[in-house]
Amino acid sequence: MNNPAHLEQTIAAPLEFSGIGLHSGAPVTLRLLPAPAGSGIVFRRTDLENYEISATGRNVAKVSYATSLMRQGVLISTTEHLLSALVGMGVDNVIAELDNLELPILDGSALPYVQAFQSVGIRTQRRRRETVRILCPVEVRDGKRFIGVYPGSGYSIRYTIDFPAPIGYQTACVDLAAETYGKTIAPARTFGYKADEKKLRDMGLIRGASPECTIVLTPEGPENGPLRFPDEYVRHKILDLIGDLALAGRRIEGHVVAERAGHAMHAALVSRLMKDRSAWEFAHVPAETEPIGEFVAAESERYSPVLVGA
Ligand SMILES: [Zn+2]
Repeated sequence: MNNPAHLEQTIAAPLEFSGIGLHSGAPVTLRLLPAPAGSGIVFRRTDLENYEISATGRNVAKVSYATSLMRQGVLISTTEHLLSALVGMGVDNVIAELDNLELPILDGSALPYVQAFQSVGIRTQRRRRETVRILCPVEVRDGKRFIGVYPGSGYSIRYTIDFPAPIGYQTACVDLAAETYGKTIAPARTFGYKADEKKLRDMGLIRGASPECTIVLTPEGPENGPLRFPDEYVRHKILDLIGDLALAGRRIEGHVVAERAGHAMHAALVSRLMKDRSAWEFAHVPAETEPIGEFVAAESERYSPVLVGA
């Protein structure tokens, strides 16, 4: 998989995933189809006469425990893990067909998507890739929560979290241009505290949650270990962030710093970016830049998933 980073890409063949939605608990089949250059990522509800919603910030709906898209009352829920895998692996154009309102949670990570992309291959297209190149800082603060994006070459993220025991304080940095996504970010799974379970279920959330797709936490530690990484929690937050920032419509070219953030803060940053048109420009990736996604085929084979997705 030796893909030039300056050209757009799509998947080489259709892919299919079946499972249940994390929050709805609803069964769903997701089909990913190759799409023409320049088309971006478009969701299609096959149960609603193929109604289409593109993955852009203007279609963001409610954002709390997951990111959802909505247009004219039609919803696509929990988009972040698929979008993260697409951005992380350098897939620009795809049609994502689903026959229900929420994407499947699979194993709670983006690894099943990454492995599927690798199994069919990623195809280079004849169109130069555009990025959202950050020209000046854009920041959002909400008490102790913070997120900002700054000018810089490539796409790098520094994320800090501070959760109750057993997670505590964790910080991690990733440079996506360094070809690390499939190995270091994609396998990190969703997590949740057992103490919050009843409250969330009463709110109509996490109906599809199970130990097969969520790290279940008590103050003593994970109930369904072992972890895939000692700092799997902060890595999963980076996974979510990459997926949420995909709603800027193009890959970010800049440096992101997030502290105690979450889906709502991620979405607020996208919204602020879209409004402040002087803070960024569409730019082309130079042809000599390192390839995106090249590392993955060899590296990820060393990783054996602990859990297999639905
Ligand atoms: Zn997530």
